[in-house]
Amino acid sequence: MWQPEPYRIKMVEPIRLPGRAEREAHLAKAGYNLFSIPAEAVFIDLLTDSGTGAMSDRQWSALMRGDESYAQARSWFRFYEAVKGFTGMEHVLPCHQGRAGENILFSEISKPGLTIPSNNHFDTTRANIEFYGAEALDLVVAEGRDPHKIFPFKGNIDLGRLEDTLKKLGAAKVPLVMCTVTNNTGGGQPVSLANIKGASEICHKHGVPFFLDACRFAENAWFIKQREPLYKDKSVREIVREMFSCADGATMSAKKDGLGNIGGFIALRDGDLARRLQNSLILREGFLTYGGLAGRDLEALAQGFEEVQEESYLSARVGQVADFGEALKSHGVSILEPVGGHAVYLDAKPVYPNIPAERFPAQTLAVALYREGGVRGVEIGSLMFGKKREDGTFEPSAMELVRLAVPRRVYTASHLSYVAEVAGEVIKKAGQEKGYKLTYEPPFLRHFTSRLAPVS
Ligand SMILES: *Cc1c(COP(=O)(O)O)cnc(C)c1O
Repeated sequence: MWQPEPYRIKMVEPIRLPGRAEREAHLAKAGYNLFSIPAEAVFIDLLTDSGTGAMSDRQWSALMRGDESYAQARSWFRFYEAVKGFTGMEHVLPCHQGRAGENILFSEISKPGLTIPSNNHFDTTRANIEFYGAEALDLVVAEGRDPHKIFPFKGNIDLGRLEDTLKKLGAAKVPLVMCTVTNNTGGGQPVSLANIKGASEICHKHGVPFFLDACRFAENAWFIKQREPLYKDKSVREIVREMFSCADGATMSAKKDGLGNIGGFIALRDGDLARRLQNSLILREGFLTYGGLAGRDLEALAQGFEEVQEESYLSARVGQVADFGEALKSHGVSILEPVGGHAVYLDAKPVYPNIPAERFPAQTLAVALYREGGVRGVEIGSLMFGKKREDGTFEPSAMELVRLAVPRRVYTASHLSYVAEVAGEVIKKAGQEKGYKLTYEPPFLRHFTSRLAPVS
């Protein structure tokens, strides 16, 4: 029997839809970059599921138990035990968010001449790897690159290509292999346990450590329980333990499946690597037992790591996102299928067949959603990934997507059906759009701070 969310609302936060003229003015002022729109001027904010979740009454109570001692605080031990509990890893380095952990890890191991493969690197992971000189290589299976192919585990690593890469380069050239669960860049698609095990075995045969980018480990485990027959009778907690048992280390943004508003960690089995990273942690984040977080944050996250593994929660969470996908489809919107765990990805190519990649069709769609209904999503297309080739031509992103990420425990079914209706309206008016051109672009992570103008 179908079940609704296993919680009710105890506190509300007002939101408001600004008028059309006001929305248009905000867009112009923001240089058509939705990252620059004031959050107060956004009605339904689906920019990210990162740090935007609602905490439970137990997490809010946990804040009050926060121990703010500088070193070896009580809250640190709660956090440590929680992370060690589900990762099975002895060494935990707390940090203020995922990319801080990535920076600390890759400042130590990413160097020019090295290659770091993954299913798909998330944008901050790729940027950190490339900043320190290594190549970030994406090896997702072919199914994962086809936006309409129905396949249960589109986040899987192509094990054949992984084997070939490691054979060709060897352990000296590959400091580690990552696997992102769920695969955010590839559409929030899950990775099967068979694939995690297979990748881990290939890595270990070649003497290469295998790491998880574990931001959405619980959502991934839920998909494994639903879609991988071998695990249908295992509990999510057991599946989580089995996923991590294949890994030598993990980075995590606890702003996702930590159900917190801030936080992250690096977890490792290798004590030597942990000690090598400790100095960098102290230099960049803070002492080893708080890493840039307040004691109360550590407390709330320790509680969040527990709640996120509850199956009634995961069922409602992943179910809400799937229903949102169905609603969008019923309004004629083309989406990436099957729907992933935390977001629905709209395919902008069929909406704007006449807008070329260098005029950013996906950004055009993202801007139109805000203009039409005060909805904020994020472009994952040629604005994020497109490059100028050395000969001056434009190398587009493989896909032109708009991600509508669903914050955890925040919006109701009617909020999301409103968004689906707005998207339907945008599709009807698609013929009026001509795309955008860049008027300012920073040297990397372009999508966060660039400015655009409509093409006339
Ligand atoms: C969010 C995210 C990160 C980065 O974490 P931040 O907390 O935003 O710095 C890294 N990898 C993946 C897969 C993510 O989703």
